[in-house]
Amino acid sequence: MANLATTSNLPTYKMFIGGEWVEAKSGEWFESYDPYVGRPWALVARGGRADVDQAVAAADAAFRSGDWPKLKPTQRGALLRRLGDLIARDAERLAAIEVRDNGKLIAEMGAQLRYLPQWYYYYGGLADKIEGAVIPIDKAETFNFTRYEPIGVVAAITPWNSPLLLASWKIAPALAAGCTLVLKPSEHTSVSALEFCKLIEEAGFPKGVFNVVTGFGAEVGEPLVAHPKVAKIAFTGGEAGGQKVYETAARGLKAVTLELGGKSPNIVFEDAAMDDAVKGVISGIFAATGQTCIAGSRLLVQRTIEDAFTEKLLALAATARMGNPMDPDTQVGPVTTREQYQKILSYIDIARREGATLKLGGGPAKRPECGDGWFVEPTIFSKVNNQMRIAREEVFGPVLSIIPFEDDEEAIAIANDSPYGLAAGVWTTSIKRAIRMSERLEAGSVWVNTYRAVSFMSPFGGYKRSGLGRENGQEAIWSYLQTKSVWISTADSVANPFVLR
Ligand code: NAD
Repeated sequence: MANLATTSNLPTYKMFIGGEWVEAKSGEWFESYDPYVGRPWALVARGGRADVDQAVAAADAAFRSGDWPKLKPTQRGALLRRLGDLIARDAERLAAIEVRDNGKLIAEMGAQLRYLPQWYYYYGGLADKIEGAVIPIDKAETFNFTRYEPIGVVAAITPWNSPLLLASWKIAPALAAGCTLVLKPSEHTSVSALEFCKLIEEAGFPKGVFNVVTGFGAEVGEPLVAHPKVAKIAFTGGEAGGQKVYETAARGLKAVTLELGGKSPNIVFEDAAMDDAVKGVISGIFAATGQTCIAGSRLLVQRTIEDAFTEKLLALAATARMGNPMDPDTQVGPVTTREQYQKILSYIDIARREGATLKLGGGPAKRPECGDGWFVEPTIFSKVNNQMRIAREEVFGPVLSIIPFEDDEEAIAIANDSPYGLAAGVWTTSIKRAIRMSERLEAGSVWVNTYRAVSFMSPFGGYKRSGLGRENGQEAIWSYLQTKSVWISTADSVANPFVLR
């Protein structure tokens, strides 16, 4: 393969391993694309197994010796808060880089990056509040207590849709717990993770505590998950990648959290505040061009209001402004990758063939403001039945399926009849119905009269095939800790050695 760095004049981005900026040992690079224009804009080091080995060795050394394990949790917390301040300072710059890489709106990425420091403040604050217990043990002359210790080297593997946000859901609690990390960002959006390493350096983290190896799933992700010195894998991505990670991790008996895909229902009852529900449905599927794991891609609408609601929805969706994601007024940007663009178009064909009725969009956006980018028109299908592929499989694009229901029982039955369970929305003015639905929906997040709300404080994760474990909130830190029970005898002599104490 030709060495891209010598044949191209694009900026190059090296990896960050053991506190040093390094090229891949193979000397190879790969292109990072700008989806708005459909052309490469940067070259990123193409890491491989040897680079993974070096990064894990650096993370393992930093975990076991040097300054990091000597730091008190309070000092770790202070470092995390300093990192949060640096992210806040650079939020706009980092957001612009992410827009360049994934084509999502500057309005959205800017808001995400300005919010991101909160993860570092929150887990920085939590770092010194992890307390063991003195157990009032039932045995004579025995003192027993628990300690919570960091699990070790963490492999964090992330997708392209919200690069630093989803990485930080792992980085902040892992560092607060005292772990060290190797991050493998998506091959489509590596650059912001590398820029983030400059802030890690500036904040003063010891070398090797945080490392980034860039490259592809098979070349970097797989050897990273399989590496015997990696203790835990925190993965966000698609179902196929998640399964592979889980299988490989099982062979090494490693701890795993998985944040995977979804086919989330957004349920509108006849008693809903109609205009709010229309906006909620739009935000569930067309924000981020539908490229979110929590996309409300199944609209379940009560049959009594199906026609009126669909009409209002179509009217608002038809006004969506498409175009340059860096323009703060744009509402729907391009799709991040060419493959994803083609996949979305193929699902639109599948829905047509399955007999769904196309009400809006239905193909590539040919608008002049979309240029040569990978744009798909906001697309709405009605007359969808929940057994169709368009209602069962994750499209990860701006494609909405409308499925009518009669009553609460049928709404629950359809909503829960899915292999996934990441999120669900409910639109109703009845508090009783809101509570009943939130109890019965099989989903890790349920939003009532709102959609797509996440916070560092509130646990996030999936039921069923949407994942394992939770990120965010206090409980997230426990997945980076392990419990040790310490026994101390206060007896003057050792009891009968042949009997269990
Ligand atoms: P993906 O699974 O293709 O890739 C995710 C990451 O895993 C990438 O870094 C990729 O290189 C790596 N990877 C792929 N195969 C691997 C393997 N065998 N071993 C190790 N690493 C491997 O996902 P994507 O296309 O980048 O992202 C879209 C998917 O992510 C969607 O399914 C979406 O629902 C999901 N997602 C989930 C959440 C959540 O929090 N639940 C959030 C965002 C995205």
